[in-house]
Amino acid sequence: MSLQVHASGPLAILSALAEEQAGLLEQLQGAERTLHAGREFWQGQLDGLPVVLALSRIGKVAAATTAVALIERFGVGQIVFTGVAGGVGADVQVGDVVVGTGYVQHDLDASPLFPRYQIPLTGQTVLVADGSLVQALLAACDAGLHGLQHAGRVPVVHQGLIASGDRFVNGAEETRRIVQALRSHGHAPMAVEMEGAAVAQVCLDYGLPFAAVRTISDRADDTAHVDFPVFVRDVARVFAQRIMAALVRTL
Ligand code: SAH
Repeated sequence: MSLQVHASGPLAILSALAEEQAGLLEQLQGAERTLHAGREFWQGQLDGLPVVLALSRIGKVAAATTAVALIERFGVGQIVFTGVAGGVGADVQVGDVVVGTGYVQHDLDASPLFPRYQIPLTGQTVLVADGSLVQALLAACDAGLHGLQHAGRVPVVHQGLIASGDRFVNGAEETRRIVQALRSHGHAPMAVEMEGAAVAQVCLDYGLPFAAVRTISDRADDTAHVDFPVFVRDVARVFAQRIMAALVRTL
């Protein structure tokens, strides 16, 4: 498929962790490194497509800062996030992939001044991903992950809501609380992570297309911190590289 290009400027590919970015950096042609706002930005081409690679750092504020820098300093036309997340949807297992169709901040609560989860002064609660980018990412997951398995399981590609917050969620009880509260407001999250909704909000303000794809590294339960480092080192790097390689071929 070919993406309807409704933005000029290079494609930004954001990750939170160096391991998630490593495979992409290896493939970057004409790599040029710039230090800005305490971060490294890598300009170049992937399969001939102009891109800027950056690490968001961890958490919502850090990710928002990086997104603004990508837009203001590097003139990117659209942003894609590739990283890992905790699976909280019933059938979202480690080694699966979630393409975010919407993003909500699970730790945002300015009630009673504004409805719970609503971003003050925007009237928005769930930020909707760019439809063309979502379709391109779904196609890239199918193509890029074809033939791959993790722990004997063929990765399932889900699409749905991603909930972001400034917490590494690693407890069954905490996960239950977060999911229950979201559900009682009509939101059913598939994955939790720490950056997506922040980048989505920046892209909303600037009118830029955004979508994220997250490989599930853990189940946000009591063993999440044990599963996480090994998975990121061994699996997330490969998934991110393969999905992004397939994505840039379709753009
Ligand atoms: N151990 C890492 C820190 C990882 S923080 C280090 O030392 O660098 C977790 C990162 O993975 C964040 O970028 C977040 O978006 C994602 N993530 C994966 N599983 C998560 C979970 N259960 N809860 C929240 N974020 C999670």
